[in-house]
Amino acid sequence: MSRVNPKFATELSKYGSSDFNACFNCGNCTATCSLSTADSSFPREMIRYTTLGLEDEIKASLKPWECYYCGECSSECPREASPGELMMSLRRYLTAQYDWTGLSGLLYKSLPLSIAAFILTFVGVMAFVVSVGFELEKMIHFGHMFEMIAIGTVGVLILLPNVARMWYFTILKPKVKVPFMKYVKSMGELFVHMFTQKRALGCDDNQFRWFEHFILVIGYLSLLFTTVVLDWFASEYLFVIILGYVMSAIVFVVTIDFVLSRMKKKKEVSKHSQPSDIFFVVWLFLMGLTAFMVRLFIDLDILEMNKWLYVFHLTVLVQWALIIVPFGKWSHFLYRSFAMYFAKLKEK
Ligand code: SF4
Ligand code: SF4
Repeated sequence: MSRVNPKFATELSKYGSSDFNACFNCGNCTATCSLSTADSSFPREMIRYTTLGLEDEIKASLKPWECYYCGECSSECPREASPGELMMSLRRYLTAQYDWTGLSGLLYKSLPLSIAAFILTFVGVMAFVVSVGFELEKMIHFGHMFEMIAIGTVGVLILLPNVARMWYFTILKPKVKVPFMKYVKSMGELFVHMFTQKRALGCDDNQFRWFEHFILVIGYLSLLFTTVVLDWFASEYLFVIILGYVMSAIVFVVTIDFVLSRMKKKKEVSKHSQPSDIFFVVWLFLMGLTAFMVRLFIDLDILEMNKWLYVFHLTVLVQWALIIVPFGKWSHFLYRSFAMYFAKLKEK
């Protein structure tokens, strides 16, 4: 039997959405959404679950992840119930439910706590910098070691268990029977969506945004590979150096458009931006820009005189790896890809 949480609407409002109660069930949003089919109603089903407080159904649903927030449903809503924003808020809520540490929920719901986390990591970085006497070589060596250890630790201790919880909520708990071979055969779906995010192409008029996302994902993953595996800051190979410049430039140049869009709040998709959305794009921009500048200063042989730049980069890197990736919006990238995989597993 479904469990009803009468306080669910209040809880969800802490993740952003509060207008959905204005919905009078006209169906315009479903007629508009290009993801809707005869068997699958977007986004009205989620509005219904939310207004009724059907928490288990919401946790079992993959639909919030299938929506790429084109905003067309919100534009067409005669009641200004912002159904697109409801889907976005559900993604934040689900991220908090999947996260076994509970930190995602705390950070999503409290801006002061998020700011405290950023300050705490900054203090940690400063303490480290002071402990090594501000020595550039040691700081760069630590930065590289930190990247490798953080990727492994965050992946194994936080993200993998969270994906397992997502699998539990969406497949195991609702008792969806999936033959083992289907897990294997559908694996391609996971990687295709992870690298191409092709579901976003299902949204009308979304091609340019999809292209920007696609370039950004490729640029970000390549920059990660260049810095972590190819040790970009210490490398003397011309190919690696140029690759790092190109990838970091892609990351910060493409991100400028996302940052501006979030700041202007003109488009439907950015009108309701929450601090977590802004942190994500601003930190991504800073990651690309500071990495680019650090390597440029190394090549111009002026980094020793400008160590503050590396300290700034290291701070951004640590905050990104310890806050935004495991508990912030970065994790959406992972859950979205797994949602497509799990949706494939659920297909009859
Ligand atoms: S268009 Fe607006 S009022 Fe109509 S069903 Fe969708 S959310 Fe409700
Ligand atoms: S934001 Fe776009 S994809 Fe998401 S439910 Fe609304 S119309 Fe559909």
